[in-house]
Amino acid sequence: MDKISIIKLTVITKTNLKRVLIVGAGFGGLRAATALRSEPIEVLLIDRNNYHLFQPLLYQVATAGLEPEQVARPVRGILRGQENFRFLTAEVEAIDFPARRVITDRGDLTYDYLILAPGAESNSFGLPGIAECALHLKDLDDAVQIRNHILRCFERATWESQNDLPQAWLTFLVVGGGPTGVEMAGSLAELVQYLRSGEFHSMGLPRARIILAEMAQRLLPEMQTSSSKAALESLSGKGVEVWLGRAVRAYDGFKVEFDHGEYLEARTLIWAAGVSAAGLLQRLDVPHGPLGRVAVLPTLQLEAHPEVYVIGDGAYIPAQREEALPMMAPVATQMAERATANIRRDLRGQSQAPFRYKDPGRLATIGRNAAVAEIGRLRFRGFLAWVVWLVVHLIQLVGFRNRLMVLISWAWEYLTYERAVRLIQGRLPAVSEAEVPGECS
Ligand SMILES: Cc1cc2nc3c(=O)[nH]c(=O)nc-3n(C[C@H](O)[C@H](O)[C@H](O)COP(=O)(O)OP(=O)(O)OC[C@H]3O[C@@H](n4cnc5c(N)ncnc54)[C@H](O)[C@@H]3O)c2cc1C
Repeated sequence: MDKISIIKLTVITKTNLKRVLIVGAGFGGLRAATALRSEPIEVLLIDRNNYHLFQPLLYQVATAGLEPEQVARPVRGILRGQENFRFLTAEVEAIDFPARRVITDRGDLTYDYLILAPGAESNSFGLPGIAECALHLKDLDDAVQIRNHILRCFERATWESQNDLPQAWLTFLVVGGGPTGVEMAGSLAELVQYLRSGEFHSMGLPRARIILAEMAQRLLPEMQTSSSKAALESLSGKGVEVWLGRAVRAYDGFKVEFDHGEYLEARTLIWAAGVSAAGLLQRLDVPHGPLGRVAVLPTLQLEAHPEVYVIGDGAYIPAQREEALPMMAPVATQMAERATANIRRDLRGQSQAPFRYKDPGRLATIGRNAAVAEIGRLRFRGFLAWVVWLVVHLIQLVGFRNRLMVLISWAWEYLTYERAVRLIQGRLPAVSEAEVPGECS
């Protein structure tokens, strides 16, 4: 460890209390930290970012509806009043299980109990060009990059209009017909409609195309077929071309290659086709399940290291279900509650209890006045489902200020149709530059 690391970590020296170290301040990690607030233990939370991110609204940042600050909140601010809590911003690189030590880019930290909640990362399934050239939607930087890129495409298309080239700049392909892809495509259609008919009205641009491609034969495969049909109708009504049974094979920043040798010229490919467990989890020398998720006991412990719990998107319980639990926020928060309850039980000498998931239902919005909802036996769609979606997301957002600001933004957008956050941050590249997203150039 270098001198700087040693100096920095003196603030995190171990007390006489047992230490619960939590990796990841997302849905699972944050809930675990708050659930331990009254315990006579030390809670140390680590995240590479100093904020908690509300990922379900990321697509609204990407489509110029919300500002990044409205969907994230500093962790120290959220847990300010919790006396047994400390936070460290660091990248966790590895875990030394036998030594009960977490290795970070700021130095090493020991633990008595470890809760691993580092979530998931975008999964390009090794398809050529997808990791480098596609746009991904997993963190705040991704969302801002997508927003910048979409707005740049419009600016760029105006320059290209003399050369008959603008269509590829105005062809936006979203890949993946799950909730993220559906929400992204619906919101993108509304943004594009706003830009096309408003500020770029007199620029002589061709029709913008928004295409949602899904490999399966229906959208929202995890929901009932009636919800899939409703989503398809709503998206078609917004002008989105939905291509079912179409799998992407490769992308080079200019041209998308599909199965069966079809091609599409598009300067935008937004990848919403899947995630895998966070890199940290995939690198661990422990048993793994599908998508690099870590196999845990029904009690959420690692079999070989019972003081370690894995929760959220990165956990897989082979003994409990044939299919893995969905990578969704309620799974992560409920797992956090079970893992912390089990730590409390262990401290009191009681046996561990298994995790049982209570499914609160599923919601997906397709844009203004349109959503689908499945809650218990209830299935509904349209305006009512959309209102339920708004209320559920507002309640779940962390912090009164964020809730208020998001509510104001939504009300403004609903009344004026305006997408308020249309700034392109960073300098526009020269017209002669290829200007493709990511590391693709
Ligand atoms: C665009 C999008 C939309 C979504 N919409 C919904 C929705 O509508 N409803 C729903 O229920 N779910 C939704 N989800 C899924 C939901 O966000 C996840 O299931 C949930 O966040 C998982 O919680 P978690 O605690 O496992 O991980 P996360 O909430 O992802 O938190 C993981 C944390 O770990 C940190 N981290 C990762 N690796 C390291 C490391 N090596 N070192 C330090 N820190 C690290 C990350 O910075 C992050 O803060 C959506 C996800 C995305 C990406």
